[in-house]
Amino acid sequence: MDLSERYPSLHVSGHPLVAHKLSILRDVGTDTKKFRELVRELTWLLGYEAMADLGTRPRSVETPLETTDGAEVDPRVGLVPVLRAGLGMVDAMLELIPTAQVWHIGLYRDERTLKPVEYYNKLPDAATVQVCLILDPMLATGGSSAATVDILKAWGAARIKQVSLIAAPEGVATLSGQHADVDIHVAAVDRALNEKGYIVPGLGDAGDRQFGTFAGPSSEPGHEPADETAEVVRRLQRELRR
Ligand code: URA
Repeated sequence: MDLSERYPSLHVSGHPLVAHKLSILRDVGTDTKKFRELVRELTWLLGYEAMADLGTRPRSVETPLETTDGAEVDPRVGLVPVLRAGLGMVDAMLELIPTAQVWHIGLYRDERTLKPVEYYNKLPDAATVQVCLILDPMLATGGSSAATVDILKAWGAARIKQVSLIAAPEGVATLSGQHADVDIHVAAVDRALNEKGYIVPGLGDAGDRQFGTFAGPSSEPGHEPADETAEVVRRLQRELRR
């Protein structure tokens, strides 16, 4: 199934550097330090593509030789990392667009139901940016992203984009199904979600691999209670086949 035909808002990078770096990122032998570096580099590359259509306004520039026409990015941009794995994408985005504001919305994925639960939101009453980039390395079920978009739209964000390293087809279907106007920029769309809610082939837990938190069984794929999770995944897969 070519998902980009079915979901026009989906943009899968075709850049060879993205494919190369993503392969190293997936490798189980890639250590935490290298993993973080790759998340940063991939975020630059995907961020560059995701912001290709930002508007600019003219700006006059004095070079050492003469005055010339320049440009500056017009819309105010907000970065909204999905905690915690999205945090590793923030610095790279800020290097691309240092004037961006960073807004934190805390949603965690209930391990049993896979539903997003909001635990942190300090957005001011009115939107202070026009374009929001939601940052989450893994677009898995799409539940957290769709809930974040709901919050940002209610806030008044005019334009919202999702930047992820890997998406599951189920996540693309959920987010595009609920918010067809949200562009989704990814390095790859993988085969599926497994019954535990992990993207396969994927790269494992993007948070644990970035932050080195492999402490206990509860944070490792295969150890969380799977019954409800598997049922949610089966429902998403039925919806995708429709
Ligand atoms: N979150 C991750 O970190 N990895 C997955 O495969 C799915 C969700």
